[in-house]
Amino acid sequence: SILVHLCIALILAAICLLIRDICEPGKLSQRLSNMLLYSSIFSVTATSLIIAISPRLPVIGSILFHLVVLVCVIAVVTSLLSAAIKGSWTARGLCLGTVGFVFIALARVINSTGLVDNVPTFDHGLYAAAFVDAVVMSAIVVHRAFKMRREHELAVIENTLLFKAARIDPLTELLNRRALEEDFETLLSQKERRRNVYSMLIIDVDHFKTVNDTFGHDGGDLCLKQISARFRAACRPDALCARIGGEEFVFILSTPTPDDALSFAERLRERVSQFEFGEPNAPIGRLTISVGVTDIPRGPTIRFEDVYQMADKALYTAKKTGRNRVINAANMTNISLAKRVA
Ligand code: GH3
Ligand code: MG
Ligand code: MG
Repeated sequence: SILVHLCIALILAAICLLIRDICEPGKLSQRLSNMLLYSSIFSVTATSLIIAISPRLPVIGSILFHLVVLVCVIAVVTSLLSAAIKGSWTARGLCLGTVGFVFIALARVINSTGLVDNVPTFDHGLYAAAFVDAVVMSAIVVHRAFKMRREHELAVIENTLLFKAARIDPLTELLNRRALEEDFETLLSQKERRRNVYSMLIIDVDHFKTVNDTFGHDGGDLCLKQISARFRAACRPDALCARIGGEEFVFILSTPTPDDALSFAERLRERVSQFEFGEPNAPIGRLTISVGVTDIPRGPTIRFEDVYQMADKALYTAKKTGRNRVINAANMTNISLAKRVA
């Protein structure tokens, strides 16, 4: 008997919590939601107390236990009806599934009073109610399962989009600085790092302020997009290509030798300098870039900032010595000039 009472209390508590959980968000008021929670706690605590005192007060214990059941039933019925009226299809389904049992319970109560004769006892009604309840419950469970799966899929997509948005520069769709620094760490910790040479290129568009001053900010933005498209097309998929400031870009390349990275930078500079920026009906003209190149030393302690500073020094020299050139940080030689002389 103690076990039965405890089981009933636990089942009532579970039903209260279940209804609190499965009604669609917003369809169950905060007050009713709290009522279900407190009813579930009350059900278990009060029943445990009743069990503790009932050997001495059997009648009062029984009355109190009926009170516990009544409180939970009121909480469940009120919440279900309220949520059903507010449009919760889960609550409506649960009401529909339960309605047969309610009729049967009423008929039994009326019969037991003996006040009215011939109220049908629903011998087959019990099976019918159980059948309707099973169908409705199954439909609710299947619907909830599909809904949860859809929500999970949407959450995964949303997460992916958010992750991407946090790493991508919206104007040029290249990586942003944060993503570059993250990927730099990952790239250099890979095993193939032992075989390949990695280089960093810092690229700055020359006299870009003049573009903005002459063609407006929109003209400047268009140039940034067009130049980024050239950069993306030139890079291999395993290269990192990022916009780290207004008109400043960083590439991390893997090449067989350091000279290959210098040749790549030189080809890129040449290609950009030959491109006609702007639209056919609104031409902007040609632009040039200055590039600082450094190879990335091997070693476990190599930091992004240190490599960046080396390449930035080369870029500074490129700017100081006339722009539209590639400077090698290793010996500050002008690669563009060396190529022209050769
Ligand atoms: P230098 O050859 O020395 O690099 O000269 P610069 O004019 O390119 O360099 P400066 O740093 O003086 O100017 C950079 C300009 O880039 C100034 C700023 O208005 C512009 N800029 C920065 N971010 C954006 C952007 O997102 N869109 C546009 N349109 N312009 C930008
Ligand atoms: Mg510039
Ligand atoms: Mg700049």
